[in-house]
Amino acid sequence: MSIRVRHAVVIGGGIAGLTAAYRLRQALGPEVDITVCEASASVGGKLRTLTMDSGPVDVGAEAFIRRRPEVLSLAGELGLSAELVTPSSVRPVIWADGSAHTLPPGAFMGIPASEASIKGLKGLVSPAAERYAAGEAERPFTWEPGADLSLAELVRERFGEEVVRKSIDPLIAGVYAGDSSTVGVRAAIPELARALDSGAATLTAAVRGAFTPTAGSGPVFATFRNGYQTLLNALARAAGAEVRLSASARVLSRAGQRWRTDVASDADIVILALPGHALAGLLSGHAPAAAAAAGEIRHASSAVVTFSFGDDSVLPEWSGVLVAAGEKLDAKAVTLTSRKWPHQGGRGLLRVSLGRFGDDPPVTAFPDESLVRVARADLRVLTGIDVDPRAATVQRWPDGLPQYEPGHQRRVKAIEEGILQLPGIGVAGGYLHGVGVPACIASADAAVTKAIGDVAG
Ligand SMILES: Cc1cc2nc3c(=O)[nH]c(=O)nc-3n(C[C@H](O)[C@H](O)[C@H](O)COP(=O)(O)OP(=O)(O)OC[C@H]3O[C@@H](n4cnc5c(N)ncnc54)[C@H](O)[C@@H]3O)c2cc1C
Repeated sequence: MSIRVRHAVVIGGGIAGLTAAYRLRQALGPEVDITVCEASASVGGKLRTLTMDSGPVDVGAEAFIRRRPEVLSLAGELGLSAELVTPSSVRPVIWADGSAHTLPPGAFMGIPASEASIKGLKGLVSPAAERYAAGEAERPFTWEPGADLSLAELVRERFGEEVVRKSIDPLIAGVYAGDSSTVGVRAAIPELARALDSGAATLTAAVRGAFTPTAGSGPVFATFRNGYQTLLNALARAAGAEVRLSASARVLSRAGQRWRTDVASDADIVILALPGHALAGLLSGHAPAAAAAAGEIRHASSAVVTFSFGDDSVLPEWSGVLVAAGEKLDAKAVTLTSRKWPHQGGRGLLRVSLGRFGDDPPVTAFPDESLVRVARADLRVLTGIDVDPRAATVQRWPDGLPQYEPGHQRRVKAIEEGILQLPGIGVAGGYLHGVGVPACIASADAAVTKAIGDVAG
């Protein structure tokens, strides 16, 4: 098989785009020109490592899940395995009804997976709610295979409203900056949907069946000792691509057998690795149904305010605080970075995450001083920290997190079917098959395989 590719372009320089550039280089060899066009002034997208008080700190994504193989293998390929670190055993708490509660043990995304996790709801929910949850196994359960419910609809019926607000929503807010009413079971937790489709007798049994922890599998999360910048640098080096910054693509058109953009010379392959909301404009002339589906994906805006206190003595002995729905606070989560990550210990670092899907105006519309003030006020309530930080920094993420709503898989199918009709085009990113960094890497691999397959002759 010979592949006639002279030039490949990647639009979007986030983790999906940089991974795509690297995979293109691996597949096409050293002779092919590869150009990465990034709209902003730096690559990385939602991965951003800043220097604060002379040390690195991630102000976008801060970790990845080890259960999926993609980051671990990519780090291995790039010689970065020794850079990976895992969290301490210190646990987070849930903030509900004005006080801190331990997380129910053995739950997945807050959904009880065993009798022990139902018992662990004690104190977090009212005795009546606890009794209702405990009766889940006794109540008849019907699940229509293929049903596409929101997580709130499913869990409310089986465990009750309080479990939704106090156990599920705090975790969903942490991942999607949304709540369980706008997150679809099928889109966000496909393993759970599969267990339900295959006839689990109760929701507890379905969760247990979908997520049996493997003995000796180690910590759930990991990250890079010096932040995600380590991965970004290594990927950019290995890709050997020309990186064009402040290059925002607005046009994608056909030029004979090749593709033309307004940010690079004509290419045989174009990987579109931009956020879902930016994809629609580029696709509308070629795949209108795919463009319409991409345009339907809604996004949440959020902001991360990071503080450095210089030492850890002010931090409570928690790894973080997840805030239940309905609390009168702007913060949805606090990560006590220096407690959670031993390699960050001693710096008194923490991150306050503000903003939820549907906020009007979005949190990103407010000036830095307001966001720092609000974050400090909520920090006082949640952790008792009332001393001046040594440093504070604000990172806004406008439309930063796609919402995996019911119907999401139908939209993604429409996007991918549209792309199938466009030879040499691939799509990758966190709005397709998972918002996490491992899923973004997997989407880049798939996009490159598809696009190269199209042009291989
Ligand atoms: C605050 C926050 C915390 C998170 N925490 C975690 C975490 O701990 N673990 C985890 O696994 N995931 C986390 N995520 C999710 C994860 O970081 C993202 O889903 C992932 O980084 C998205 O990567 P991407 O390459 O798909 O998109 P992006 O990172 O959005 O990259 C797309 C790039 O395309 C560029 N672009 C846009 N339009 C154009 C255009 N027209 N032309 C050229 N370039 C364009 C953008 O500037 C951007 O750089 C978090 C996300 C956020 C916002």
